[in-house]
Amino acid sequence: MPLTKDEIIYHLTHKEAEEELFHKANAVRERHCGKIAHLRGVIHFSNYCRCDDLYCGLRRSNAKMKRFRMDEETIISLADEIARAGIKTIVLQSGEDSFYTREILCRIIKEIKKRHDVAITLSLGERNYDDYQAFYDAGADRYLMKHETMNEGLYERMRPERKLKNRLKALEFLRKIGYQVGTGNIVGLPGQTVEDLAKDILFFQDFQPDMINIGPFIPHKQTPLKDYPPGDFELMLRVFALTRIVTLNTHLAAANTVATLRPIEGQYLCFVKGGCNVLMPNCNPFIESKEKKVEFEFQCAPKKRYVSVDEAKEILKRAGRKIAKDKGHSLKLRRQTC
Ligand code: SF4
Repeated sequence: MPLTKDEIIYHLTHKEAEEELFHKANAVRERHCGKIAHLRGVIHFSNYCRCDDLYCGLRRSNAKMKRFRMDEETIISLADEIARAGIKTIVLQSGEDSFYTREILCRIIKEIKKRHDVAITLSLGERNYDDYQAFYDAGADRYLMKHETMNEGLYERMRPERKLKNRLKALEFLRKIGYQVGTGNIVGLPGQTVEDLAKDILFFQDFQPDMINIGPFIPHKQTPLKDYPPGDFELMLRVFALTRIVTLNTHLAAANTVATLRPIEGQYLCFVKGGCNVLMPNCNPFIESKEKKVEFEFQCAPKKRYVSVDEAKEILKRAGRKIAKDKGHSLKLRRQTC
């Protein structure tokens, strides 16, 4: 249901009213998404990035980051494992890494689609517009690209050489192609105000994304923002709840950075208070294999905690949710494809 900027700011700033807010978010989630929750199996296939975002450990200036790239065969075999585990969405995520050309990525997408009846979400950052079209034509279903913050000045301070307006144009273009489009913000960026968060929520209300991924700022010691405090967990929960209320049936993910900020309870609380209905367990092999831990570690946040598939199932069980058996396409009626 639509909210005004003043109503959003009221709820962001009035902790005493938060139980009522959480109750409402939960009721909206129950009505529009039911008890079904979705698991998305994430493959972080490269932690190289050409960007230099101040808040991210993968920024190109971080010479201390141990970098990895998976080869095609490894990516496809991980997709096989995810599909065998019964997860019907595979998320291919990386930094902005031009090593993976249009041809390589199309080959990977086509091969996964040929082998499995799954949906594919891409989270590759900003690419050439012809790439977006080619990936869609190859079979990709969804594209996730967080807008990070709707404060243009803050965005451009945090993301040198990048423009918010280009990001928003890319989101529109992705939607025009036919992708189910996801976006999201960061809560607690240094210099961010409550008014900025309200603008993010108003953007969600206006754009009505198919998916949203909200996460807290977490200072990484190998970045210029290392001495700033992390985002406030309680405030972030209120951002989740308000986002559920204004978007009704958008797929809302409790990001892994939430579990980094508040281990064990964080994502569970996002489900029972914040209106979330999606978890994105990490499916890189380092969870199982100590030997590969360094090789495939995607540390955009320090000591980033990733929930495994088993942990994700445990969280959902505790929250009283059933895991979807289908691909969990967008619930937005205008482009419902399942
Ligand atoms: S947030 Fe994404 S685009 Fe920005 S530096 Fe990190 S990996 Fe690269």
